[in-house]
This record gives sequence, C-alpha cells and structure tokens, in this order.
Amino acid sequence: EIVIKTKNLHKTFFNGEVPVHALKGVNLDINEGEFVVILGPSGSGKSTLLNILGGMDAPTEGEIYYRGIPLHNMGKKELTMFRRNAVGFIFQFYNLIPNLTAYENVALAAEIAVNPLDPATILAEMGLADRKNHFPSQLSGGQQQRVAIARAIAKNPDILLCDEPTGALDYETGKQVLDTLRNFNRVMGKTVLVITHNAAIGKMADRVIYIKDGRVDKVEVNANPVTAG
Ligand code: ADP
Ligand code: ADP
Repeated sequence: EIVIKTKNLHKTFFNGEVPVHALKGVNLDINEGEFVVILGPSGSGKSTLLNILGGMDAPTEGEIYYRGIPLHNMGKKELTMFRRNAVGFIFQFYNLIPNLTAYENVALAAEIAVNPLDPATILAEMGLADRKNHFPSQLSGGQQQRVAIARAIAKNPDILLCDEPTGALDYETGKQVLDTLRNFNRVMGKTVLVITHNAAIGKMADRVIYIKDGRVDKVEVNANPVTAG
C-alpha cells in the first residue's frame, strides 16, 4: 500500500517581491514499511518537502495524499490530528523540552496521542531505562536523540519523518541512532523517511530519492541495504 503520494508538488516562498521556487513539481510514492532516504545538497528543497509531507506546511500547488486521503484539502483540526497521531517527527537538534525529564518528554507526546505506547517500555527498549529521570542537559547527544526517537515512537505513528537525524552526532553515535530507526522500521514494520545531505546514509535505505533544485533527480532501489552496527 502507498502511505504517502504526491502529485506535482510546488512550493514558492516570497523574499519580499522575489519568488523562491523551493519545489518545482515533485511526484513521490512512499510505500508501507519502506525505509526511504531523500538525499540532496543544502538548499535543494528537502526540508520544505518534509514539512509538507508532515502536514506542517501547505504546498503552493499540487496534491498530497496520506493513505488516499487528500492532505491538501484538510482543515486545521484534521491536520492537527494527522500530525499528532499519524506522524512522528525527529529533528537534527532533538527539540526536547529542557525542563522536563526524558520520561516526561516522552509521556507528554503519548498523553495526547489516540493510540499511544507505554513511555517507560519504549525508553527501556532504547536502552534508556536508567536515564529516564534525567533532564536533556544531563544526557549525551546520542541519548538525547534516542529520547527524541522514543518520544516520536510513543505516539505509535504510522510513519516517522526524520530531518538530518544524525547531523549533530559523531559517526559512531549516528550509527546507533540509525540502527534504532532501522529497527523500528524492520521490527514494527513502520515506514521511515530520512532526509539528509549525507550520501553514506543512503546505503541503509530500501530506496534513495535524489532531490536536486526542487525536483526528483533520480531514484535508486537498494536490493541489499547496509545495516549499521
Ligand atoms: P534543504 O532542506 O534541502 O536545505 P530547504 O527546503 O530548506 O532546502 O530550502 C529550499 C529553498 O527554499 C532554499 O533556497 C531556501 O532558501 C528556500 N526557503 C526555505 N524556506 C524558506 C522560507 N521560509 N522563506 C523563504 N525561502 C525559503
Ligand atoms: P566519516 O567521515 O566519519 O566517515 P561520513 O561523512 O562518511 O563520516 O558520514 C558520517 C555519518 O554517517 C554519521 O552521521 C553517521 O551517523 C552516518 N552513518 C551511520 N551509519 C552508517 C552506515 N552504516 N553507513 C554509512 N554511514 C553511516
């Protein structure tokens, strides 16, 4: 089944009078259970695309469907429910709430979700059982990112959208984080989409979608994706 489909997505920003064409007609199909990497240089439109796929921004033109339901026609309330329940977000700089503990950060996301998983169980699965009462500032970058992943997973989302998830981490720590995402994908059968400018991460994907200057440049299928770790 196709989880996300886009047709001819365009996004134009205005810098005063000057239009910036960030997306120039993107057509995508993301299949259920896939681990997809969207790879492209800085400024190619990756974040813009991810924001639209996650219902955080609207396209200027074109269509986007989530399991056949048109996001481009959704009202504000419906979009909020979509973001809250269907999608888990992971960012480069974790975006944890600094005055909440690891457990509280995860529990907060779970509380507002319709079909959440148990925060303590997820944290334990992330190897963070003994860190759950720590505040973000007391954790390493890799631990903070694993808390952020736990927070995203605790909502029991259909799809994880990850924006440069290893961008702030050293190589080994990044590997562990990618392993965690990969496990979520393989063990729970969930769809994971990672945007990055790091070509090495593409080797782990089932499919790599290359984006260049606001367009899909080429698509590569990996018959034997590399597993980290
Ligand atoms: P990437 O994530 O690949 O680095 P972005 O999607 O962030 O690329 O940006 C694509 C283009 O759109 C860039 O030229 C960027 O400067 C421009 N852009 C992104 N967001 C905005 C915005 N809010 N206002 C104006 N221009 C923007
Ligand atoms: P280095 O110069 O240290 O080799 P690269 O620029 O090649 O670094 O890429 C480092 C990034 O690749 C890290 O952020 C790391 O998270 C990521 N990475 C993680 N796992 C793998 C993997 N299995 N294969 C390739 N790159 C990976």
